[in-house]
Amino acid sequence: MANVYIGLGSNTEQPINQITRALSELSALPSSQLVEHSGLYQTRPIGPQNQPDFVNAVAQLKTSLSPLVLLGHLQIIERRHRRLRIQKWGRRTLDLDILLYGHVPFRHPRLTIPHPLMHKRGFVLIPLNELKPDLMIPGKGKVKNLIKRIKPGTVSFLT
Ligand code: ATP
Ligand code: MG
Ligand code: MG
Repeated sequence: MANVYIGLGSNTEQPINQITRALSELSALPSSQLVEHSGLYQTRPIGPQNQPDFVNAVAQLKTSLSPLVLLGHLQIIERRHRRLRIQKWGRRTLDLDILLYGHVPFRHPRLTIPHPLMHKRGFVLIPLNELKPDLMIPGKGKVKNLIKRIKPGTVSFLT
């Protein structure tokens, strides 16, 4: 079983609900087990600023699904939440990104692991720090050190 971290985000249609439902859908994935998840955090959007704040969380899974099969399942969940892609980094009901899959990098036209921006994003690092401060992001460093570069006050604990 591979140890996997998933980043969740939502900023429309009752984001707290979207994230809570998505966590239970992750716990029901085949050949997988939801190990734990962070609390929910409120964060300022990256990219276009004329959109609501996001609710973000990080979940840890153990899975025997391959990275691409796992991505396929996550995209089915996004579609179930009626995710539309209107604008890059724009508002969405649900975003599910694979942050890490075991210790191995994975490169494919549809999937890059580690997620190439995870080490710069407060809405990923701060929830991840709650779960695994000593986790190593390959080539970037430990989560607990990377969070020192996050601008204070941009990510706040919700629930
Ligand atoms: P960002 O990747 O900067 O967080 P985003 O999550 O808004 O942006 P999406 O519109 O959700 O981007 O996804 C665009 C494509 O990214 C997907 O169709 C998927 O094939 C690809 N992708 C590449 N790497 C990953 C990854 N690690 N996790 C999820 N999707 C990925
Ligand atoms: Mg994303
Ligand atoms: Mg995405």
